[in-house]
Amino acid sequence: MNRPPAACPPTLPARLALVHRELARGDDLGERRLTEAIGDGDSAQMSQIIRRIAAFAFVLMAGTSASVALAQSTADEEAKRRAANIAAFPDAARSLFGQKTAPADMRARAIGSYARGCLAGAAALPVDGPSWQVMRQARNRNWGHPILIDYLEKLARAAPKITGWPGILVGDISQPRGGPMLTGHASHQIGLDADLWLTPMPRRKLDRDERENMPAVNMARADWRDVDPKNWTPAHGRLIKAAAADPRVERIFVNPALKVALCREAGADKSWLEKVRPIWGHNYHFHVRMSCPPGMEGCSGQEPPNFGDGCGAELAGWIERQRKAIFAPPRPPPRSGPPPKPRPPMSLDALPAECRQVLVSR
Ligand SMILES: [Zn+2]
Repeated sequence: MNRPPAACPPTLPARLALVHRELARGDDLGERRLTEAIGDGDSAQMSQIIRRIAAFAFVLMAGTSASVALAQSTADEEAKRRAANIAAFPDAARSLFGQKTAPADMRARAIGSYARGCLAGAAALPVDGPSWQVMRQARNRNWGHPILIDYLEKLARAAPKITGWPGILVGDISQPRGGPMLTGHASHQIGLDADLWLTPMPRRKLDRDERENMPAVNMARADWRDVDPKNWTPAHGRLIKAAAADPRVERIFVNPALKVALCREAGADKSWLEKVRPIWGHNYHFHVRMSCPPGMEGCSGQEPPNFGDGCGAELAGWIERQRKAIFAPPRPPPRSGPPPKPRPPMSLDALPAECRQVLVSR
């Protein structure tokens, strides 16, 4: 791995590339805080979140070795970070759930909430379907509540007709028993969240190495105000609209720059855009979140979206905040004394009590 010397910060293009890559990881930056804050709406909490993200972006730009490690997300790096996280906190919920390789043989249940819960009786999305391929298979995150797996198969089967592509590439869903993960994502814990790549599936079957390391394509334009027309096509908009149309879907998350294109291309009928919420990252993939299955006790979803289409001032605000975080991040205040200890990761006690059963079940 190439580490720039600490005393020599990377050049501006290199710094921007780092931030872009980090935004691409998305879930690490934004989703964690936004899902716990229920994201949409609470402005005080939101500005605190944005300050933290901006400060993080600044740390990245300062070119610390840790940020370089974070920004590289090959299979090797992923494996190293997993091992380091297990070693640092072997009893953390993410270490316990992150090492389970098979689902809990129980009735299918999404237990808890998107960023604090687990999954019983998970089903796997087959790694190859007639019109889908699962990416990053080594992570073993192609597990979900059967309702989500059913939804994904239907959407993928319809995708060639909707998009003209051979199919779709599927990113992370959940671990076999859900729960917190050793790397990436704070949500995706109860088998109701899935990341779908915005890179069209190629006609051929990708090999093992490509599935682990093939980079995704950034859909945002360099100024982060709109999509990049070199990569974004109307088919992307049609796919996201189709994904939102299923009544079981509660929200879809995309980068604000992508929502700008969706709003423009939607024409007169913008009502479906209410479900499509702007969020950090999500410029390489979009995120589908299902509602709790009806009558499923112990599963707590979010309020149904109630913000209008969000294409006006709200979206403009997101664009400006994101640009500020990328291009003009505030300097963190000078610190005296030793750096603060990082907060320990979520413990098993923080999850619903039933998650202990999920963990120990056959
Ligand atoms: Zn996601």
